[in-house]
Amino acid sequence: MRYGESGAKFADHRAILFTHFHADHVADLDAILNSGGFANRAAPLPIAGPSGDELYPGIKDHLTALFDEHTGAFRYLSGYLDGNFGLPMLEPTEIDVAIETLQPIIQERDLKVSAITVHHGGVPALAYLVETGEKSVIFAGDQSFLSEKFVQVFQDFKPDILIMHNVIPEGDGQPRGLHRWPGSIGEVAAAIKPKNLVLAHNMKRALSHQAEGETAIRNYYSGPLQVADDLDCFAL
Ligand SMILES: [Zn+2]
Repeated sequence: MRYGESGAKFADHRAILFTHFHADHVADLDAILNSGGFANRAAPLPIAGPSGDELYPGIKDHLTALFDEHTGAFRYLSGYLDGNFGLPMLEPTEIDVAIETLQPIIQERDLKVSAITVHHGGVPALAYLVETGEKSVIFAGDQSFLSEKFVQVFQDFKPDILIMHNVIPEGDGQPRGLHRWPGSIGEVAAAIKPKNLVLAHNMKRALSHQAEGETAIRNYYSGPLQVADDLDCFAL
């Protein structure tokens, strides 16, 4: 519903990027591709995600589970895997999460996309850097304070926007092995120095302590800060 309200058009997409395969981060793919079947898009669509393990499929296994022509849950959309039925082919890139350096995914004249492994509990997970012209956006994804390489790689990077996930409040008793607490978000922003820090994935337990959380962020980071809401747009 929000996808439609945002004015997003399937034909316009240059890529689909998955950070990880927790259900709340991927569950809309089949619905978006279903509507994409009416978009008259011919161009292939790059799609990227992390490699898998025993508990989480990689991007390729995930697509097979959804769209394989014999076994896929949505096998009527199998044309996304082979180009049949007038559907555009998905071109998957599976990023090996064992590699800790920044890995290029798309390198075109006006668009560069790279991924880097982050720590998100035991979940294979990525952050993304998207660059277009002189502008850049870092999607930090779900990540814990153990994502040290992420901070090292983007130290002083000064992206136009750094999007970080605001999931847990400050204080004990929170799943700190999965998510950064506000003070940790502040430390990351202070190191990366974005022109704008945008808090997304705002969960109720964080928002219910938002003033306290922003104070904790401000202990480290003094630049622009915005809390995203559905359908917000942030100009580059
Ligand atoms: Zn997650």
